[in-house]
Amino acid sequence: TVVTRFAPSPTGYLHVGGARTALYSWLVAKAAGGKFVLRIEDTDRERSTQPAIDAILEGMEWLGLNWDEGPYYQTKRFDRYNHYIDKLLAEDKAYKCYCSTERLEKMRDEQMANGEKPRYDGHCRDNPNVSGGKFVVRFRNPQEGSVTFDDHIRGHIEFANTELDDLIIARSDGTPTYNFCVVIDDWEMNITHVVRGEDHINNTPRQINILKALGAPVPEYAHVSMILGDDGKKLSKRHGAVSVMQYRDDGYLPEAVLNYLVRLGWSHGDQEIFSVDEMIKLFRLDDVNKAASAFNTEKLNWLNQHYMKSLPVEQVVPYLQWHFTDQAIDVSKGPALERLIPLMADRVKTLKEMASQSRYFYEEFEQFDADAAKKHLRPVAREALEAVQDRLASVTSWKAESIQAAIQQTAEDLGVGMGKVGMPLRVAATGSGNSPSLDVTLELIPQEQVVGRIARAIS
Ligand code: GLU
Repeated sequence: TVVTRFAPSPTGYLHVGGARTALYSWLVAKAAGGKFVLRIEDTDRERSTQPAIDAILEGMEWLGLNWDEGPYYQTKRFDRYNHYIDKLLAEDKAYKCYCSTERLEKMRDEQMANGEKPRYDGHCRDNPNVSGGKFVVRFRNPQEGSVTFDDHIRGHIEFANTELDDLIIARSDGTPTYNFCVVIDDWEMNITHVVRGEDHINNTPRQINILKALGAPVPEYAHVSMILGDDGKKLSKRHGAVSVMQYRDDGYLPEAVLNYLVRLGWSHGDQEIFSVDEMIKLFRLDDVNKAASAFNTEKLNWLNQHYMKSLPVEQVVPYLQWHFTDQAIDVSKGPALERLIPLMADRVKTLKEMASQSRYFYEEFEQFDADAAKKHLRPVAREALEAVQDRLASVTSWKAESIQAAIQQTAEDLGVGMGKVGMPLRVAATGSGNSPSLDVTLELIPQEQVVGRIARAIS
């Protein structure tokens, strides 16, 4: 069975690049009816934090990237790593290195001065006589031949073993090093496909050599390219939101973010819209683009609007409710969100905007939008507002059609165009010059409230 994993280091929030890697990995597992494992790589105790772990789990949950196993924590698996370090030592596939820091530094300086790539010179490798004092454990890397693998994204890759030195697998305090933990975990968790960022590509040949020394199967690899900002520079905070949860806070639907992420580096013809089921059906690691992808907020906005308009409203309601709560707007006494969504989805890019621009349905607004008021309210509109107030007050069935008829009738009575009545009325009733079609908008506000707001506008 196919088993994939997402293995974040909890040193910060779940960022866009990590989320895309997680999504690709998740899709591979889902498509194959396999398993998706979540593993927290928290061995760097100084940089790993509980809030970061929580943020990653929260981000994964919000996106709906559910895991079948885990989360595993590397810090809870030291017994396993130590077991294999001892095994490799016993089999002479690893050795103790007693070289002092001074010796290693001197060696490094000399190599650099000669224009060589710094690498361990193997001093303790075949020297069983050295002993005593502190030691690290080094993996006995093959000295000949090469390591090759066929990356699903980057194709055939080959590293000469002479380029790889004898990697430290246990530090002098006995703790295992990062690359070693990954190897043991991928093996013990039966990972068949490793999907990760291209920044790990240099680790792969080292990890393969260790897997082979352990007699473990070598998984398949896919190294995903990085994401750039719209200015072509590496994506960072400067470009705005980079944390997945920031996208929630900014009013994006997880469906839109997932669709956006899947297309960031992968395509299927010129199709832009992919439901999660379609992604699972169509996504292929081999079709992932090798080139870096550039972030494009406009496209994300476009997708978000698409999903706000096309998802079943009841699916959007809880996400929209989150934003009303976030903005401290009590919606219990106004129109149902199911009615609001179809009305507003066309007019906004995000749920955050939808909530903030719908405030007048639920609360009295504090003031009229200054520009709109100046243009459309007193004194020019007084006559129109008084007339339409009378007409609206006597509407017997508060429905869009009768509201529309009342506005039309007012315009006819006064011999003016509809806009001369409609615009002042809009500003009076909503506080702004911008609302959905007036008849349906007013239908959603109780009649006496509309009448009262008109009174307020002309007072
Ligand atoms: N923990 C690594 C990271 O967050 C990923 C390692 C891996 O996927 O092998 O970059």
